Amino acid sequence: MKWSKSHLFTFKEAPSDAEIASHKLMVRAGLIKKIGPGLYTYGTLALKALRKFEQIIREELEKAECQELLMPMVHPRELWETTGRWDEMGDGLLKFQNRNEHWFCLGATHEEIITDYVRNDIKSYRHLPVTLFQIQTKYRDELRPRFGLMRCREFLMKDAYSFDRTEEEAHESYDRMFDAYKKIFDRVGLEYRHVLADSGNIGGNKNQEFQVLAEAGEDALMVCDTCDYAGNVEIAPALSSKENYQGEAKAKEEFATPGIRSIAALAEATGIEERFLVKTMFYKDEEGKQYAVLLRGNDEVNDIKLKKVIGLTNPPELLNEEEVVKLTTARPGSCGPMGLDIPVYADEALTNYSQFMVGANKDDFHIKGLNFGDGFKVEAFADLKLAKEGDHCPSCEKGKYKHVRGIEVGHCFYLGTKYSQKMNANFLDENGKSQIIEMGCYGIGVSRTIQAAIEQSHDADGIIWPRSLAPFDVHICLLDPKDEEAVRISNALQASLSEQKIECFVDDRKERPGVKFKDADLIGFPVRVVIGGKGIKNNEFELVNRKTKEKLTSTKEDLAKTVSGLLKSL
Ligand code: ATP
Ligand code: MG
Repeated sequence: MKWSKSHLFTFKEAPSDAEIASHKLMVRAGLIKKIGPGLYTYGTLALKALRKFEQIIREELEKAECQELLMPMVHPRELWETTGRWDEMGDGLLKFQNRNEHWFCLGATHEEIITDYVRNDIKSYRHLPVTLFQIQTKYRDELRPRFGLMRCREFLMKDAYSFDRTEEEAHESYDRMFDAYKKIFDRVGLEYRHVLADSGNIGGNKNQEFQVLAEAGEDALMVCDTCDYAGNVEIAPALSSKENYQGEAKAKEEFATPGIRSIAALAEATGIEERFLVKTMFYKDEEGKQYAVLLRGNDEVNDIKLKKVIGLTNPPELLNEEEVVKLTTARPGSCGPMGLDIPVYADEALTNYSQFMVGANKDDFHIKGLNFGDGFKVEAFADLKLAKEGDHCPSCEKGKYKHVRGIEVGHCFYLGTKYSQKMNANFLDENGKSQIIEMGCYGIGVSRTIQAAIEQSHDADGIIWPRSLAPFDVHICLLDPKDEEAVRISNALQASLSEQKIECFVDDRKERPGVKFKDADLIGFPVRVVIGGKGIKNNEFELVNRKTKEKLTSTKEDLAKTVSGLLKSL
């Protein structure tokens, strides 16, 4: 591909909405262009990278005996209603009517559609197992699209669905897909971890995410410093030793705490460490039912754990100040669980606390000498807090959590019969008995992965494409496109490399060498070759390794060999 014949524009400045390096670089290198929030056009180079990744996915999934299909993007409401998700998915689902006033939505995920597809055909145990996949555009009406392709409204996903006879076989399908995912992300060359995750709206319990490790990632992960345990902080158990704490006050006693609004201030005023102060947080669910949560002063509530313990579909929401005042008659900072007619949940780290201190539900007052059961009843003690660095690993003896950040690029779920039961997807077993099909679903964020690769591999000058995804392998800087000898050398190099399936991009613009070199660094193909200037006279051509910036020289005769050798060594 020649630059002079392409629609490719690079930019010195990143747009003001680009917060992270990969987003800035993708826009500056002309890979993507925004047309609205969460909506991007993929330019030629981005599309080439996407196609390379898709090819890796296809090859590995086909090896794992999965077959590709393509489902519609527009889904009739009736199918989503069979599982209750038309309402459950909330505003994330973009719904609209056609001219006949029939309701539809854009595909955010395809469990309903694929289950409908297979249930019409699968009659007998002989038709199972089967795993089907597609690579397709998804639409999710994300509240806050950001970070370029990381959190888009319209994005490319590979979604796969497995159908099995028994739970055991469904787990085998899951494991096969999980192994294929490892091969896929290994081939791309990403640094990633697979982590245990929350099931979200989909449900099921065998559930792992593939997370590309990057500071800019949206997901907080806890990884063990000793074994290979890794969990999304959404679900990572927070195992703390249940310390005994007994406060000094023997009987309940109110005392004034003027102006004290925070645990830190209360700790300072009382001389009691934050972890021995008990903090009360208030939540409400979608129906408006309210809950109180007690936890140590230095812990934070994990709303996903709270959701599970209460038994809600979606995480509860924190009450705002006005709601807290209405409920407790006091402002946040002076609130506690006493005398409230709402369920109270307590973090298990408090199990052995007695004669402790909480807000008195009266502005500027606290109570000391409180015990569980004094004026409030605890529904349950449970792990309700966010795990922290240094907490004990749930899977080995010695290990401690380390906190890292990740970008979720893939996800494997075991679904069981969650969808097949509601949608009557059955088959007849060997004994002629009707059974419900067992399912699993497996996603890869195809467009997100391209950006995650850049987030993990770039420097101050630009992108450093991993060879696996690089839109082109070689960037030829043709210094003078009118120099016939230089053009001949460039053409010969391209022809000979193309025999080895090595693709070249030629910068044949009328630009100064400095501009060309800067753009080559920004766009970031693995190897740059400079053709022109003194090099032609001296039969000495410069090769640059984009990643290390190391330079090599080669004669014209050896050029193709030197380039392919350098590429092989990457
Ligand atoms: P997230 O937690 O990031 O919102 P998710 O868990 O809802 O993602 P899944 O339903 O597991 O997403 O979708 C499969 C994959 O699709 C994800 O692992 C992710 O890589 C990708 N993906 C999901 N939402 C988006 C989005 N808004 N933009 C780009 N890629 C996305
Ligand atoms: Mg997910």
